[in-house]
Formats: sequence, structure tokens, C-alpha cells
Amino acid sequence: GGFPPFRNEPMADFTRADHRAAFPKALAQVRGQLGKTYPLFINGRDIMTGNLLPTVNPNRLSEVLGQICQAGTKEVDDAITAAVAAFPAWRDTDTRKRAGYLLKAAEAARGRIFELSAWQILEIGKQWDQAYADVTEAIDFLEYYAREMVRLGEPRRLGHAPGELNHYLYEPKGVAAVIAPWNFPLAISTGMAAAAIVTGNCVVYKPSGLTPLMGRCLAELFREAGLPPGVFNYTPGPSATMGDYLVDHPAVSLIAFTGSMETGLRIIERAATVHPGQQNVKKVICEMGGKNAIIIDDDADLDEAVPQVLLSAFGFQGQKCSACSRVIVLDAIHDRFAERLVAMARATTAGPPEDPAHFMGAVADEKAAARIRGYIELGKTEGQLLYEGPVPEGEGYYVPMAIIDGILPEHRIAREEIFGPVLAVMRARDFDEAIRWANAPRFALTGGVFSRSPAHLEQARREFRVGNLYLNRGITGALVERQPFGGSRMSGVGTKAGGADYLLHFMDPRVVTENT
Ligand code: GLU
Repeated sequence: GGFPPFRNEPMADFTRADHRAAFPKALAQVRGQLGKTYPLFINGRDIMTGNLLPTVNPNRLSEVLGQICQAGTKEVDDAITAAVAAFPAWRDTDTRKRAGYLLKAAEAARGRIFELSAWQILEIGKQWDQAYADVTEAIDFLEYYAREMVRLGEPRRLGHAPGELNHYLYEPKGVAAVIAPWNFPLAISTGMAAAAIVTGNCVVYKPSGLTPLMGRCLAELFREAGLPPGVFNYTPGPSATMGDYLVDHPAVSLIAFTGSMETGLRIIERAATVHPGQQNVKKVICEMGGKNAIIIDDDADLDEAVPQVLLSAFGFQGQKCSACSRVIVLDAIHDRFAERLVAMARATTAGPPEDPAHFMGAVADEKAAARIRGYIELGKTEGQLLYEGPVPEGEGYYVPMAIIDGILPEHRIAREEIFGPVLAVMRARDFDEAIRWANAPRFALTGGVFSRSPAHLEQARREFRVGNLYLNRGITGALVERQPFGGSRMSGVGTKAGGADYLLHFMDPRVVTENT
């Protein structure tokens, strides 16, 4: 107790004139600060390095947002040394006090919410509402994990035997490497780091190379919260060299990663090797890809289903592991659904997200754009193109929105994660076949069903085996506490960010038994 009950931070509200006005104002303010150099943050101090990399706006490639100091192995070593040194005192800090730092960081984020959204609109191309939602999710993680730690921090008494006193308590593991993705650059970074910190671990944080400036913002929030030196260290650097170096390091006991299946599996494999001097079995928390389906039953309410599929598939250019990449439509409703989906897609516009009229903007980088274009070409050979959206003029990593019909479970665009605005349409004979197809890929992250049949919804609850199943709504935008997020099979190791079990993965339980 002590803290008021958890509540999700409210979303941006565009019925409010002040919210509408705040975005352009914050964008202009942030644009007034372009081109600065951003240092590392190690042991409570800013550290400049000679190796700088620019971070750019994917919608305007000539717009350099800032120069990011890159960490090399020396700086990573320094950060790990600082984390090791800070660990004993941090571990022994009262849990309520540790939780208090998270609440202070949340307060700092609230005070800068439009500015943090604006940086994100420019650094990774999120639409206004989506950028704001990423910041509110970060705040939610801080607020929620603070309360969770207070709950878990009380030693529990076990058993009833007379003359015996058993206490069950949790301890942190040590140094945590947090390796974060670019698609939810503040929320997922904050969630993984906050969980590690509040449980008493010390963190070395590597942001994605595409969103190091958002990562720097997180370092500033923790600095403002007054975290002791060494508890949180920010070391941006090249994945190719630094990722492995962090994962292999003998002083790292815990790795929290969100990203692709390939990288996740590589981390799991490398973390199994014990290096000289290593004292702990490394624990890996991995959230990986998805190949998520929405089933459209023959009695579905298309007024609901069409816009929700569109948003789930193409919101933030489909660059969410929760995104809908397959829509499995029952034969009887297929043509009506497809026609309405294409009509609605045709009504959307594309361009830089700083203009809120644009539904879709550029994707993350040239590599992503090339991969997505390749899948669109492949899809045209595997199925039939239903719709390809216009590509905006001008610089920017633009790819068209693509809807491809006639896809079968064995097709590659029905099995491989594309991570872009490409939607496969699959025509299923009946509901049983739709469920079978939905479960066919090796991923099991999110899924959805639009149906008015209680029996089919019930069947989906039992048989549509994904980490997050949504009935009669879109399949993105899981909220902290209400929809703990994460999958199983090749989508991850079964952890649920924003849920009641999450912090347990960051600690080891101990039992103390006294003969009284
Ligand atoms: N939690 C996000 C959602 O529910 C997805 C996270 C991700 O893409 O990694 O949409």
C-alpha cells in the first residue's frame, strides 16, 4: 500500500484544443535543438567519445536530429564496472525507495510528454497519437512496476508447521543488459530497464541504432529521478560488435531483449556459453516476432472489422510485432470484406507524420524498405495484388501499403515476419480452417477474431493459441496491466510485459527457514 492504485496514463485527446496545439509547438521547439551532440551516460556522468553517428528523420533524410557518441568496448566495460560497483548497495536499498525513483521518472516523463512525442515523430516516424501512446506506455511501465515491486518486496510467510518460520523473498540477479528495439523506442526501453532497476539490478542499456536519441531521453528521465550513479548506464553503439560483447560479458547475469527472432535466438544461444570469471547462469528474457492473423467470420460486423484491420495492419507502417499481417476471411464474406477494405485503404494518405493528415509515413531505414519491397514483389507472385498505395514524393524511406489476396498457409508471405505495411488476405472455407491457418506459423504473439457467434468466439478462446487474443477489436496497442503483452513459441519465452509475473523473471527467489 501507500501508493494510489495504478491507472493507465490517458491517451492524447484530439477533442482538446490544447492537445492539438501542443504537437506543432513541440515539433517546432524540438526542431530548434537539432544537431546537438549527445554523450553516453556512465556511472552518473556524461561521457563524450570521438566516434559520432548521426540520427536522422526517416521521412526527411537530410534532417539530422543529432550526433550520437558511440560506445566502444572500453565504454561498455566502464559501464559494466560501474554497474557491478553500484549493485550491492542498490540491491540492499529498500524496495519502496527503489519504487520511488520510478515514480519520479514517470513524473519527469509526464512533464515532457509532448516533447518526447515530438522527438519520436521525427526520429522514427510515428504518427502523433502513436508517438504519444509510446510515452504514456513508458509512464505506465514505471508506475506499474513500482507498485508491483512494493507488492513483491514483502517477504511472504509459508507453511503452518509449529516451531518453524519460513520466509520467501526475492533478490536481484546483478547486472542486466537491456537491448532495445526502435519501434517502441521509449516504452519498451523503459519497460525493460525499469523492471530490471526496480527489482534491484543495475543496467547497461543499448538502444537501437535507429533511435539512440530516444534512448538518451530515457537516460535523462532516470537522471532527473536521481538514481544513484551506476544503476542505469546508457551506451549506444553498433549492434554488430556491441550486442555480442554485452551478451558474452561474464559480469552480465541477465539479458532483456526485444527484437527479431533471429537476434533473439542468437542471444539465447550465446548466453548459454560460460566465460572465464562468470559467476551466474545467464537469464534471457526475449520478446521476438509475430505473424499475426485476424479472422473475419461470415457474420462479422464489417463497420468494426474493416477499420480495425486497417489500423492493426498499417498503423506505424505495420512496424509492430503485434501488427496484423494476415487477415483470414471466411469464404461467404470474403468479397464484401475485401472490397470495403480496399475502399478504406484507398482513402488514406501517406507522407511525413508531422502532418496529422497522413495515415502512413516512411519505414525505419533503407534496409527495411528494401526487405519490404522484396516481400511485396514476392506476394505478387504468390497471390494477387488487391491494392498498392501511392508512394509519396520526396526523400524518405517510403514503401507502398500493399494488400495481397489469394494467399495460402504455405506461401512465404503467410509465414515470414515482414515488419512492414503488407497484408496477406486468405480465404478460408469455414471457421475450423480459419483457426487452423491462424495457428499455422511458428509465431504465437497476437491474434484477433471478428464474429457475432458466441460458439465461434468460445472456440477461438480455446483453440487460437496466441499470447494476446483480441475478440471484436484491433490487435495492437496492449495496455499495461490490462493486456500484459508477449507471446510463446517463436515469439518469445513466455514473459508478459506489463503483467503481474514480469518482475519475477528479473529476480531469484530465496527461502529462509528458522527453527523457532
Ligand atoms: N505492445 C505493442 C502492442 O501491443 C507491440 C510491441 C512491439 O511491437 O514490440 O501493439
